[in-house]
Amino acid sequence: MGHDDHELADRFDSITTHDALIRWSRAYCSDAIETYGFDVALFPVEWEVSTRAKRRAAAVKTPQIDGASVGEPIAWETKSEPVDCVGDYPACTVSLSWRAFESFDRDEWEATLRHELVHIEQFQAYGTTDHGPAFKRRANSVDAPVRVRRFTTPKYVLLCDDCGDTVAHRYRDCKLVRNPDSYRSACCSAPLSSSKVPNEEN
Ligand SMILES: [Zn+2]
Ligand SMILES: [Zn+2]
Repeated sequence: MGHDDHELADRFDSITTHDALIRWSRAYCSDAIETYGFDVALFPVEWEVSTRAKRRAAAVKTPQIDGASVGEPIAWETKSEPVDCVGDYPACTVSLSWRAFESFDRDEWEATLRHELVHIEQFQAYGTTDHGPAFKRRANSVDAPVRVRRFTTPKYVLLCDDCGDTVAHRYRDCKLVRNPDSYRSACCSAPLSSSKVPNEEN
């Protein structure tokens, strides 16, 4: 685990694309399933990145299953209603917020993913998921928050010096904000400049 853990840490800091965020998050979840003993199958799980989510860091999108309730195991293979299944598992989608990723450090992002894994675990077992007492117990046992922190608008914006496009947002002072001219934009390979987001955008 030591070596992989180190690699994941390095790669987290260099994520710049939606695909990279999904790859990283899926790899972390795969590790966490082993480490924390989640009863979760990842292969039926789809991933997406949302740039519109303004407050929710992540969410698991599931179909509505009539009569499902947390604590009552569901037999997917004998389900008569049409549920989109992959093998014996129902499909669901983890939606990750790009702005939350920009706002959270690695520890908080990992804790958020464990929170979502608890939702997937409940959904795959029971056909539904919530934030009730069972969720709370499970979240505590895997060191995940019961409620994921809501995040706000970023403090800093990084702009491409050539074309003026927005390259990134940051929620706190960091290397990128302090030394933007030592980075290069993907659009123009130009230096960046950082500025505070004006109040009206907050
Ligand atoms: Zn939740
Ligand atoms: Zn540019």
